[in-house]
Amino acid sequence: MDLMDKGLLVVLSAPAGCGKDTVLAELKKQDENIKQSISMTTRLPREGEQNGVDYYFTTVEDFEKNIKENGFLEYVKYGVNYYGTPKKAIEEMLDTGKSVVLKIEVEGAGNVRKLYPEAISIFIMPPSLSELSRRLKNRGTETEEDINRRLKIAETEIQRAKEYKYIVINDDVQTCVNDILAILKAEHLKYDNMKNTINEIINN
Ligand code: 5GP
Repeated sequence: MDLMDKGLLVVLSAPAGCGKDTVLAELKKQDENIKQSISMTTRLPREGEQNGVDYYFTTVEDFEKNIKENGFLEYVKYGVNYYGTPKKAIEEMLDTGKSVVLKIEVEGAGNVRKLYPEAISIFIMPPSLSELSRRLKNRGTETEEDINRRLKIAETEIQRAKEYKYIVINDDVQTCVNDILAILKAEHLKYDNMKNTINEIINN
């Protein structure tokens, strides 16, 4: 019997360098019911990033056209670039009963919570700010100026962790993944998500 009646909308935020890409990749590997929303962005691809896999990379003109056509569930200007969650794809995935993870920053997360109060918001914390700084430098993909800008943003984002329903710490990736899987499992088992299953039990 499938205990899970419907997919969950999960908002996952973390300052840059907290390992959310690795955590999300592991989550998807370990639970095939977890799908990821692919955002649209005007930022340039980093080395190894693929269009349609990591993001839909696009121009400012095209992004602004999508805004006008109401194509985004939410969007923000983060730093100098636009990032947005395509609306149609999310609705389609939720309809299939899969859980959909939006990997978005704090502003967008707040906007999603307003639209979908039932969304499960999870904030990934670094073990410490000094470790975060070390990880950003090791990544080696950005300039010193970019790193300092991201560290400043990280500090303000961490101030907003209190707006999230759950906090997990990414010191060890597998522990962090296990924590998120436990959160999702518990959310699936909430009464509101179990009504269909209860009816099936009663009627059989
Ligand atoms: P990055 O440039 O490092 O890939 O992403 C920068 C920030 O933008 C990250 O915090 C990432 O989670 C966030 N982000 C990515 N896509 C979206 C989106 O569609 N909406 C919002 N609000 N934030 C996004």
